[in-house]
Amino acid sequence: MNPVSRKTPTAEAQRRLAYFNERRDAIVSTIRELVEIESPSDNKAAVDRIAEAVAQKFSQLGGNVDVRIHPAKDRGNHLQVDFPGKSAAKPVLLLGHYDTVYPLGTLAAMPCRAVDNKLTGPGVLDMKSGIALMLHALAALQGWHGGDWHKAGLPRPVTVLLVSDEEVGSDSSRAITESLAKEAAAVLVLEPAYGFQGAVKTARKGVGGYLVKVTGKAAHAGLDSQKGANAILELARQIEKISSFTDLKKGLTVNVGVVSGGSRTNVVPAEAAAQVDVRIARMKDAAGIDKQMRSLRPFNRKCKIEITGGINRPPMERTAGVAALYAQAAAIAREVGWKLGEAAVGGGSDGNFTAALGIPTLDGLGGVGDGAHALHEHILISELPRRAVLIAGLIERA
Ligand SMILES: [Zn+2]
Repeated sequence: MNPVSRKTPTAEAQRRLAYFNERRDAIVSTIRELVEIESPSDNKAAVDRIAEAVAQKFSQLGGNVDVRIHPAKDRGNHLQVDFPGKSAAKPVLLLGHYDTVYPLGTLAAMPCRAVDNKLTGPGVLDMKSGIALMLHALAALQGWHGGDWHKAGLPRPVTVLLVSDEEVGSDSSRAITESLAKEAAAVLVLEPAYGFQGAVKTARKGVGGYLVKVTGKAAHAGLDSQKGANAILELARQIEKISSFTDLKKGLTVNVGVVSGGSRTNVVPAEAAAQVDVRIARMKDAAGIDKQMRSLRPFNRKCKIEITGGINRPPMERTAGVAALYAQAAAIAREVGWKLGEAAVGGGSDGNFTAALGIPTLDGLGGVGDGAHALHEHILISELPRRAVLIAGLIERA
């Protein structure tokens, strides 16, 4: 081999890819360990258990890590791990969550199993493979930059934050996420990649939720219906109006997803309610849609309308900082002969919070697969090594 070519970034990247290819089974077994600790967001004891298990894995990496549990009252505890670095650069924040949407016992019907190139199991894609990738990328960097294992060190400081409540809105972790992001040079979110090509996510919509409650007046449907005020009819008219707020050109969608109301067919219904999901692509549209929702007025003056809720996750917009981070990721991918795509998606993550603070954020760096939150959730095992190359490279360069 030409000795000069060994020094090119491509040769180094190929060496790294070979390194992670050799350790592919070890990455898979870490993922399996994590998947087999079930951790539904609404079960504090279960989520606390995985927090402890993951904390232990980070402690075992050595290199003066500072492992800290942030206790949460009603949700599982959150986990922060700080790695010192050899440079004085600001830390990179690796962000993720270990809660899943699956109730305890799901594993029995949906075991963690490797079949050909697929690894299945609850939370395998969203996002226990992302946590395993963090662990293996950090261990590799320590080795590459450390020489002597006991003096292992990262090239720059890294903070890891894994939260317990992302799947249920991140209420108990949001403040921690935001305060750590403010200290960071960049945020790498190890949520699932987009599609089987493994695109990263450079934009995510913001999310809002509203409850529209209509109060009418009950009456006998046969004897004196004209004395009543039909809350369901009123809500139906409101739904037409609310749905018209969708503006696809702005990337703004409004979805009435759940309705309820009434008691019996022979009663003019006094109550009806609708739950509304709002998605916005641009922060500047938040105030407008909020105002539209709040200015709904009854068509029937005998009815009352009450609106609660608001925009609770700001959009992750593709700022110049996000684009620059993506360009770095694409360059790293090119070094291993891979054309890394980017995607804008409708779903939110904790990356929305960090991006909204103006911190360069790149999302979707975790596992590649399909079926998040569904019975067929899986990752592609063959994608793990180059994901690890990408994450390690970004930790150095972000
Ligand atoms: Zn997730």
